[in-house]
Amino acid sequence: MKTIFEKIIAREIPADIVYEDNTCLAINDIDPQAPTHILIIPKKVIPRVGDAHADDQSVLGHLLLTASKVASASGLQEGFRIVINNGPQGGETVPHLHVHLLGGRQLTWPPG
Ligand code: 5GP
Repeated sequence: MKTIFEKIIAREIPADIVYEDNTCLAINDIDPQAPTHILIIPKKVIPRVGDAHADDQSVLGHLLLTASKVASASGLQEGFRIVINNGPQGGETVPHLHVHLLGGRQLTWPPG
């Protein structure tokens, strides 16, 4: 069973794509929690960061570097937050690894 993100990567369902390269895709979240809420999604199927292996190191690093690049391109010079939800208690709802990039308003701590 393909996840929603695999279907988006395969162009089987539409998404608002803001960045793409050979390794990942960045899309606007369908239910934004901040003025900017972008998901950076690896094309390789890795269910969650807790299931990543040593040979995924370059993919994991690429996701953070891409989040930083997309943040700059999105005008988030005042700051931003990167979130990765892992497992049910972590708030994960789509079992395909993704980095949330949030910004455009003052973010509070602790998170909910
Ligand atoms: P998670 O809860 O797994 O960390 O994050 C999943 C995210 O995917 C949520 O923020 C949710 O709004 C977003 N999402 C779920 N389905 C879709 C979709 O079909 N399109 C887009 N663009 N985002 C989605």
